[in-house]
Amino acid sequence: MPDNLTPVFSDPLAAAVCPECGGEQLVPHPAGLVFRHHTLGGCSLQDAEDTRLVADRSLADVRGWPFERPTTPTERTLLATAGITVDEDATCLVDYLSPGIRRRTWLAA
Ligand SMILES: [Zn+2]
Repeated sequence: MPDNLTPVFSDPLAAAVCPECGGEQLVPHPAGLVFRHHTLGGCSLQDAEDTRLVADRSLADVRGWPFERPTTPTERTLLATAGITVDEDATCLVDYLSPGIRRRTWLAA
């Protein structure tokens, strides 16, 4: 690589694995908390995340964004897997970097 170029993207590094299916977390990722779940084998955490993704999109269409909502048990599980603990009453700030990229940030009270 030429010396005058700075890489802005590289392959994601494995940081954690899904406690149910063993899929790797993708880091860094613009959407934040993202795992490569083994969808063909089935993963209830992926199912819950997919359901939340659709629900967030519906809320965004009604409320606009960013908006806050309670943290889900699945998010709590995946955050803990990644070594992040959030307060019991922590909320999730949902924003969209583009129409297809939802970014979640967890806020402490
Ligand atoms: Zn999984």
